[in-house]
Amino acid sequence: MKRISLLGSTGSIGESAMDLIGRGGFEVVALTGGRNVARLASQAVALKADLAVTCFTECYQELAARLKGSGVTVAAGADAVAQAAARPADLVVNGIVGAAGLRPSLAAVKAGATLALANKESLVCAGPLLMATAREAGATVLPVDSEHSAVFQALVGEEMSAVERVVITASGGAFRDWPLAALEEATPEQAATHPNWEMGQRITIDSASMFNKALEVIEAHEFFGIAPERIEVLIHPQSAVHALVGFCDGAMMAHLGAPDMRHAIGYALNWPARAPLPVERLDLAALGRLDFAAPDPARYPALGLAYEVMAAGGLMGAVFNAAKEAALDGFIARRIGFTDMARVVEATMGRMASQTSLNNDMMTLDNVLQADQMARELAREAMAKTQEATG
Ligand code: NAD
Ligand code: MG
Repeated sequence: MKRISLLGSTGSIGESAMDLIGRGGFEVVALTGGRNVARLASQAVALKADLAVTCFTECYQELAARLKGSGVTVAAGADAVAQAAARPADLVVNGIVGAAGLRPSLAAVKAGATLALANKESLVCAGPLLMATAREAGATVLPVDSEHSAVFQALVGEEMSAVERVVITASGGAFRDWPLAALEEATPEQAATHPNWEMGQRITIDSASMFNKALEVIEAHEFFGIAPERIEVLIHPQSAVHALVGFCDGAMMAHLGAPDMRHAIGYALNWPARAPLPVERLDLAALGRLDFAAPDPARYPALGLAYEVMAAGGLMGAVFNAAKEAALDGFIARRIGFTDMARVVEATMGRMASQTSLNNDMMTLDNVLQADQMARELAREAMAKTQEATG
């Protein structure tokens, strides 16, 4: 029996992981969620968790009331989430959305757990810190993002020195075939529909803008230690090929599968073994064809920004992610337009680049969180200006 904790259990990744964990073989230590207290409580009871935590202190009473007499310990708040991540467990799955996932990731690896990481923001904001903390503690980090799991699987038995390039695919999102001029007017509802994957609202909108792919390029750089110029993005509308690894002899290894996150989650849960998974099998004959195209930089400016982030290094990843999160909030609240998001992030990066504190070679949780806060403030200023300009 593997002892497992699941952070963000009520989310899209969380529910997919719950589905696999519920089939047996696991002892559940801790579950964490947010405002969906009813769901969190029912998960905790169904899987007999030791601990259930909501990240919102104002939700404590309701969670405690729902779990009264169940034997499940209840806690609330960001500190409690990090403590849940640090509870002795073999495996911690992090399915929290946003930079809020960083502290729990660090807590999990510090405690020596294997971290199955869906929360890409942890690597984007503080990749060097997270990987160094894991190394010091002797902890393993496993990728759960589908593209990174695909690369990880293609690398089994290979030497990193033989890797020439890594190609991650992107569906192109909701607006792949829209005329460029129409993007200015795109609404949050339109952006939140994905052609192939069923995911949380934020990552789905990030797929339409390709901010998600931008985060994933940085994630690949941090996780695999691959130079930015060796990481490529390829539009692939069918989402059957998740990633490819090109080797020094010209061979390319591709990873294919149905677009179902239970592939990547299940691989991490069962690693280093493979075990049968209840996912659809890809029928290539039925699919008939696989298409590929280079992404258009004018349609997806977020991608170019990712390479600027990697060139800058240091705390620019934290700045980029925080500005992106703030701009996404602004878009969802209809304060800025779809195409304004990349402008806001670029402006914020430009203003933060002159901050000397950014160029510290020491990366600590404190200075990552400080850069995150500053970037959010500057992004909000940039959004206010955009709003004034557009009336
Ligand atoms: P989601 O919004 O569906 O779920 C997020 C979970 O995090 C919920 O349980 C929520 O309660 C919790 N949460 C929200 N704010 C929190 C906070 N401040 N502190 C602690 N917990 C908080 O998100 P999702 O789509 O499942 O994505 C989760 C992560 O996985 C993201 O980093 C995303 O990029 C990554 N990811 C998701 C998918 C997918 O298919 N959904 C695929 C690849 C990677
Ligand atoms: Mg992905």
